[in-house]
Amino acid sequence: MEKVAVFPGSFDPFTVGHESIVLRALPIFDKIIIAVGYNANKKSYFSIEQRLAIIKKVFENQPRVEVISYEGLTVELCKKINVHYILRGLRTSDDFEFERAIGQVNKAMLPEVESVFLLTAPEHSFVNSTVIRDILLHNGDPSQFLPKSINIKEYLPR
Ligand code: ADP
Repeated sequence: MEKVAVFPGSFDPFTVGHESIVLRALPIFDKIIIAVGYNANKKSYFSIEQRLAIIKKVFENQPRVEVISYEGLTVELCKKINVHYILRGLRTSDDFEFERAIGQVNKAMLPEVESVFLLTAPEHSFVNSTVIRDILLHNGDPSQFLPKSINIKEYLPR
Protein backbone atom coordinates (compact mmCIF):
# COMPACT_ATOMS: atom_id res chain seq x y z
CA MET A 1 0.00 0.00 0.00
CA GLU A 2 1.24 3.50 -0.85
CA LYS A 3 2.31 5.53 2.18
CA VAL A 4 0.73 8.94 1.83
CA ALA A 5 1.00 11.84 4.28
CA VAL A 6 -0.96 15.04 4.49
CA PHE A 7 1.05 18.15 5.47
CA PRO A 8 -1.63 20.61 6.63
CA GLY A 9 -1.04 24.27 7.38
CA SER A 10 -1.88 27.87 6.62
CA PHE A 11 1.35 28.41 4.66
CA ASP A 12 0.77 32.18 4.58
CA PRO A 13 3.30 32.11 2.97
CA PHE A 14 5.20 28.82 2.48
CA THR A 15 8.74 29.22 3.92
CA VAL A 16 12.14 27.51 3.69
CA GLY A 17 11.17 25.77 6.94
CA HIS A 18 8.06 24.23 5.35
CA GLU A 19 10.04 23.29 2.23
CA SER A 20 12.70 21.58 4.32
CA ILE A 21 10.09 19.51 6.22
CA VAL A 22 8.58 18.29 2.93
CA LEU A 23 11.99 17.49 1.38
CA ARG A 24 13.07 15.57 4.47
CA ALA A 25 9.78 13.65 4.62
CA LEU A 26 9.94 12.56 0.96
CA PRO A 27 12.23 9.56 1.69
CA ILE A 28 9.77 8.41 4.39
CA PHE A 29 6.55 8.62 2.35
CA ASP A 30 5.62 7.68 -1.22
CA LYS A 31 3.57 10.81 -1.61
CA ILE A 32 3.02 14.04 0.34
CA ILE A 33 -0.14 16.07 -0.04
CA ILE A 34 0.39 19.66 1.09
CA ALA A 35 -3.05 20.81 2.23
CA VAL A 36 -3.58 24.55 2.53
CA GLY A 37 -6.25 25.26 5.11
CA TYR A 38 -8.96 27.68 4.15
CA ASN A 39 -10.72 29.51 6.93
CA ALA A 40 -13.41 31.94 5.80
CA ASN A 41 -13.35 33.64 9.23
CA LYS A 42 -9.58 34.19 9.37
CA LYS A 43 -8.04 36.88 7.23
CA SER A 44 -4.89 35.70 5.49
CA TYR A 45 -2.18 37.84 3.88
CA PHE A 46 -2.05 35.79 0.67
CA SER A 47 -5.23 34.43 -0.89
CA ILE A 48 -5.73 30.69 -1.06
CA GLU A 49 -5.02 30.86 -4.83
CA GLN A 50 -1.71 32.66 -4.27
CA ARG A 51 -0.65 30.24 -1.53
CA LEU A 52 -1.44 27.28 -3.78
CA ALA A 53 0.41 28.88 -6.71
CA ILE A 54 3.53 29.48 -4.58
CA ILE A 55 3.67 25.88 -3.30
CA LYS A 56 2.93 24.40 -6.76
CA LYS A 57 5.84 26.41 -8.17
CA VAL A 58 8.20 25.16 -5.42
CA PHE A 59 7.40 21.51 -6.20
CA GLU A 60 6.75 21.79 -9.94
CA ASN A 61 9.43 19.16 -10.63
CA GLN A 62 8.50 16.82 -7.78
CA PRO A 63 5.77 14.38 -8.93
CA ARG A 64 5.43 12.89 -5.42
CA VAL A 65 4.16 16.18 -3.98
CA GLU A 66 0.55 17.25 -4.50
CA VAL A 67 -0.95 20.57 -3.40
CA ILE A 68 -4.60 21.00 -2.45
CA SER A 69 -6.76 23.33 -0.40
CA TYR A 70 -9.31 22.28 2.18
CA GLU A 71 -11.78 23.70 4.62
CA GLY A 72 -12.68 22.23 7.99
CA LEU A 73 -11.06 19.58 10.14
CA THR A 74 -7.84 17.87 9.04
CA VAL A 75 -9.18 14.49 10.21
CA GLU A 76 -12.22 14.93 7.94
CA LEU A 77 -9.85 15.58 5.04
CA CYS A 78 -7.85 12.43 5.94
CA LYS A 79 -11.06 10.38 6.00
CA LYS A 80 -12.25 11.82 2.70
CA ILE A 81 -9.03 11.16 0.79
CA ASN A 82 -8.15 8.01 2.79
CA VAL A 83 -4.80 9.20 4.19
CA HIS A 84 -3.33 7.68 7.38
CA TYR A 85 -0.46 10.05 8.23
CA ILE A 86 -0.41 13.72 9.21
CA LEU A 87 2.99 15.40 8.87
CA ARG A 88 3.90 18.41 11.05
CA GLY A 89 7.07 20.30 11.90
CA LEU A 90 8.32 21.13 15.41
CA ARG A 91 10.41 24.21 16.11
CA THR A 92 10.07 25.02 19.79
CA SER A 93 8.57 23.73 23.01
CA ASP A 94 5.57 25.97 22.24
CA ASP A 95 5.12 24.12 18.95
CA PHE A 96 5.39 20.85 20.86
CA GLU A 97 2.60 21.73 23.32
CA PHE A 98 0.38 23.02 20.53
CA GLU A 99 1.01 19.99 18.33
CA ARG A 100 0.63 17.56 21.21
CA ALA A 101 -2.91 18.78 21.87
CA ILE A 102 -3.90 18.74 18.20
CA GLY A 103 -2.24 15.36 17.60
CA GLN A 104 -3.96 13.75 20.57
CA VAL A 105 -7.35 15.20 19.64
CA ASN A 106 -6.90 14.00 16.05
CA LYS A 107 -5.93 10.53 17.31
CA ALA A 108 -9.05 10.42 19.50
CA MET A 109 -11.27 11.46 16.60
CA LEU A 110 -9.66 9.20 13.99
CA PRO A 111 -7.58 6.40 15.61
CA GLU A 112 -6.29 5.05 12.30
CA VAL A 113 -4.41 8.30 11.65
CA GLU A 114 -0.86 8.76 13.01
CA SER A 115 0.77 12.18 13.35
CA VAL A 116 4.44 12.23 12.35
CA PHE A 117 6.62 15.11 13.59
CA LEU A 118 9.96 16.21 12.19
CA LEU A 119 12.19 18.52 14.21
CA THR A 120 13.08 21.65 12.33
CA ALA A 121 16.61 22.01 10.99
CA PRO A 122 18.37 24.36 13.47
CA GLU A 123 18.90 27.00 10.77
CA HIS A 124 15.12 27.17 10.24
CA SER A 125 13.97 27.14 13.84
CA PHE A 126 13.34 30.91 13.91
CA VAL A 127 11.66 31.07 10.49
CA ASN A 128 7.94 31.65 10.61
CA SER A 129 5.26 32.99 8.28
CA THR A 130 4.22 35.76 10.68
CA VAL A 131 7.66 37.37 10.58
CA ILE A 132 7.74 37.09 6.78
CA ARG A 133 4.34 38.81 6.51
CA ASP A 134 5.66 41.56 8.78
CA ILE A 135 8.75 42.04 6.60
CA LEU A 136 6.52 42.22 3.49
CA LEU A 137 4.14 44.69 5.15
CA HIS A 138 7.10 46.99 5.78
CA ASN A 139 8.52 46.60 2.26
CA GLY A 140 11.51 44.55 3.39
CA ASP A 141 13.06 41.64 1.51
CA PRO A 142 12.25 38.26 3.07
CA SER A 143 13.72 36.19 0.21
CA GLN A 144 16.33 34.44 2.38
CA PHE A 145 13.46 32.88 4.37
CA LEU A 146 11.53 31.75 1.29
CA PRO A 147 12.17 28.81 -1.06
CA LYS A 148 14.85 29.76 -3.62
CA SER A 149 12.54 29.05 -6.57
CA ILE A 150 10.09 31.75 -5.44
CA ASN A 151 10.10 35.42 -6.35
CA ILE A 152 7.54 36.65 -3.85
CA LYS A 153 7.02 39.91 -5.78
CA GLU A 154 5.19 37.86 -8.42
CA TYR A 155 2.55 36.93 -5.85
CA LEU A 156 0.41 39.81 -4.76
CA PRO A 157 -1.12 39.90 -1.31
CA ARG A 158 -4.89 40.13 -0.98
P1 ADP B 1 -0.56 26.28 11.11
O1 ADP B 1 -1.40 27.51 10.99
O2 ADP B 1 -1.35 25.01 10.90
O3 ADP B 1 0.34 26.21 12.30
P2 ADP B 1 1.77 26.88 9.50
O4 ADP B 1 1.73 27.19 8.05
O5 ADP B 1 2.20 27.96 10.42
O6 ADP B 1 0.33 26.33 9.80
O7 ADP B 1 2.69 25.61 9.77
C1 ADP B 1 2.44 24.35 9.21
C2 ADP B 1 3.37 23.32 9.87
O8 ADP B 1 4.72 23.64 9.54
C3 ADP B 1 3.31 23.28 11.38
O9 ADP B 1 3.49 21.94 11.81
C4 ADP B 1 4.49 24.11 11.80
O10 ADP B 1 4.96 23.74 13.09
C5 ADP B 1 5.48 23.76 10.73
N1 ADP B 1 6.49 24.79 10.55
C6 ADP B 1 6.29 26.12 10.42
N2 ADP B 1 7.47 26.77 10.28
C7 ADP B 1 8.44 25.84 10.34
C8 ADP B 1 9.88 25.86 10.31
N3 ADP B 1 10.53 27.02 10.18
N4 ADP B 1 10.54 24.70 10.41
C9 ADP B 1 9.87 23.54 10.56
N5 ADP B 1 8.52 23.44 10.62
C10 ADP B 1 7.82 24.56 10.52
